[in-house]
Amino acid sequence: MCEGEVDLAPCLLGQGQDNKKWVWVLHASGNQLLEFTSGRDLDFVDLRSLMTDLPAEHLAVAGHAVALSQWHQNHTYCGKCGALTESIESGSKRQCTGDPAHKEYPRTDPVAIMLVESVDGQSALLGRPRSLTRRGPVLTCLSGFIEQGESIEEAVRREVREEAGVQVGAVHILGSQPWPVGRGGSCELMIGCVAKATNDELHVDRSEMDEVRWIHRDQVAKAVQSSSSHLLGGDAKLGKDLDFFVPPPWAIAHHLIKLWVEQPSGWFSKL
Ligand SMILES: [Zn+2]
Repeated sequence: MCEGEVDLAPCLLGQGQDNKKWVWVLHASGNQLLEFTSGRDLDFVDLRSLMTDLPAEHLAVAGHAVALSQWHQNHTYCGKCGALTESIESGSKRQCTGDPAHKEYPRTDPVAIMLVESVDGQSALLGRPRSLTRRGPVLTCLSGFIEQGESIEEAVRREVREEAGVQVGAVHILGSQPWPVGRGGSCELMIGCVAKATNDELHVDRSEMDEVRWIHRDQVAKAVQSSSSHLLGGDAKLGKDLDFFVPPPWAIAHHLIKLWVEQPSGWFSKL
């Protein structure tokens, strides 16, 4: 590497399932991937546009590639001394070129995402953050970054209180989903939870949320049934008698909503 030159060397992701091919990442800007389109033509595509088409194992590799590339592109200078950093150990880390030459590691930001059940167990709390305004009338689970020194359960209670004014009691963690195309080019880990409200009164934070509503389970069931693999967007089809849609199956929010609506009333107290 020449003096003053940013090092964005190819990164090694690992070996393919056949134990023959090694997979490397070449860097492109944004969340884009280079793919074959027709014949031998190559083009850049947004990773989100591939989420409905790629098999899960390929999507996992593509997500890792985009997240690692984004991390390298966003960490070309040392956050402590301002010197250039360089890629080391086949791109698994970066190291400051100053003294001391400390190492930086790819990071993941934890996000809590929660399906909140009403006091009577008949409704779910769904909303649309302002970041999704252009996506049409989608209603999804509330979510937010977990703060430093905070547990997942505490983050769920704080976020629901801040965004909807609703108090939450019990919280259960159900699963997680890596989200390599997070806000600001970061890699997020979505931690899926279900939570029980202890009051139903809404005080919505309009600076952050377009809308937050309690939706009865009958309507939630219809929305899940009419949801498809479409990308979030204005072309999403609304179900009969519905003025909203829920996220498609590639999002963990879809599975939290679907899981909840398929359970009998009172299931929450048995968790
Ligand atoms: Zn440094």
